Amino acid sequence: MKMNRIAMKFKVLSSGLIFICISILSCSNPQQTALEFNKNDHLIDSLIVIKKINKKAILVLFGSDAVTAIKTQKGIVVIDAGISKHLTSKYRGIIEKEFQCNDFVYVINTHCHPDHYGGNSVFYETKIIGQENGPKEISEQGANNEKTKKSISKIVEEYEWQLKECKINTQKWHDAFTQKTRYDNALTDAEMQIPIKYPDMIFSDSLQIDMGDMKFEMVYFGKCHSNSDILIYIPELKILFSGDLFFKYGRPSINGSQMKDKEKWENAIIWIERRITNIDTIISGHGELLSIDDLINFNRNIKERCFN
Ligand SMILES: [Zn+2]
Repeated sequence: MKMNRIAMKFKVLSSGLIFICISILSCSNPQQTALEFNKNDHLIDSLIVIKKINKKAILVLFGSDAVTAIKTQKGIVVIDAGISKHLTSKYRGIIEKEFQCNDFVYVINTHCHPDHYGGNSVFYETKIIGQENGPKEISEQGANNEKTKKSISKIVEEYEWQLKECKINTQKWHDAFTQKTRYDNALTDAEMQIPIKYPDMIFSDSLQIDMGDMKFEMVYFGKCHSNSDILIYIPELKILFSGDLFFKYGRPSINGSQMKDKEKWENAIIWIERRITNIDTIISGHGELLSIDDLINFNRNIKERCFN
């Protein structure tokens, strides 16, 4: 009996030791992963750029993620929300710190592509403004989760290759790293099936919101880069947000043959021309600051397409 008890104690002790050993062994990988994650998170934080447009507007940039925040008398208005929940949580934190407040009133989506609404849900308490075609566009894009995951994975792989090919910590490496990180996070959202926060304040042709010390004028451009492209103008700040409608030198981004919205395009160009002398800053959907010449070229380009 005595021997049996000792044997039993040893058995318990040894199985305990085995358990501890197994625990240490199995913990070593998660610990490494956590360290890696923290290291990456630190690098991500260091690569987020904050551009002060003026006293009331800041632009937060991380690769092609571009989120602008404007402090108004009635609260903060955000233009576009980036590609993912995790990264946009970081941008939200930065905005709160910069403005020393967290009263987010509106998020406006320049159009309903995932890299502009992916982070909407971070502003859980906020109304999301968008053009009325937006919700349908979002549903269609998110209809096949498997397909979405596959296509994002491919993009992640491509950036992984780019990272391997360039020298660490160079500008090229940082660019590939930020883009890979964006798509990594979008993939995580797709895998976790994070619900999309849809625009819940929609309009067809135009909308104006009064924020006390400034107004936000919005107009639907017509189907062009997407089905829901809008322009946003703040006269008091002399800022125009152009979404992904055009790039440098006024090169328009037209998806497919969307010429059927010609009449809407013409009206939108007239809308721009009425405001053009009071525009100082043009912020594109991925944070590039465009010039008045770019805008004039874009107008000309669209007009040519409309009349030919
Ligand atoms: Zn787009």
